[in-house]
Amino acid sequence: MGFWIGMNYICIFHDWKYSPCKCRDCGKTRVKKHKWDGCKCSQCNTIRNEQHDWDGCKCIRCGRVRDKQHKWDGCKCSQCNTIRNEQHNWGSLQCKRCGQGVPCPICGRTMSIINVIDEREGKITVGYCDTCKKTSRP
Ligand SMILES: [Zn+2]
Ligand SMILES: [Zn+2]
Ligand SMILES: [Zn+2]
Ligand SMILES: [Zn+2]
Ligand SMILES: [Zn+2]
Ligand SMILES: [Zn+2]
Repeated sequence: MGFWIGMNYICIFHDWKYSPCKCRDCGKTRVKKHKWDGCKCSQCNTIRNEQHDWDGCKCIRCGRVRDKQHKWDGCKCSQCNTIRNEQHNWGSLQCKRCGQGVPCPICGRTMSIINVIDEREGKITVGYCDTCKKTSRP
């Protein structure tokens, strides 16, 4: 129960009936009344950044992702889609999984994928190294 002053809601009597830890009216929470089930309050679904239930890199309760124990499928984590620069599945110009350009054969840097107009073949897609200013064809 409460009233509004401009944009602010002033709650006079918090309504704890709906859940003992969160006022239904204003959303105020009583930290001590939360019923923690790992990282999540089972009464009001508030998430705390403690005691997550990690399955690899992802918490099965709240979906939070950590940068640890990824489940790598080649270069990509199958749980959170993080990309690592290892074990790419190279096609002729880019990684078939994550789309990263192949390394430049001269300097080893990642090549950009660009479209160029070829006199004979028309529009073609090639790899381009910014450093060496070289293109490589598929
Ligand atoms: Zn309230
Ligand atoms: Zn709660
Ligand atoms: Zn969690
Ligand atoms: Zn991951
Ligand atoms: Zn990749
Ligand atoms: Zn290069």
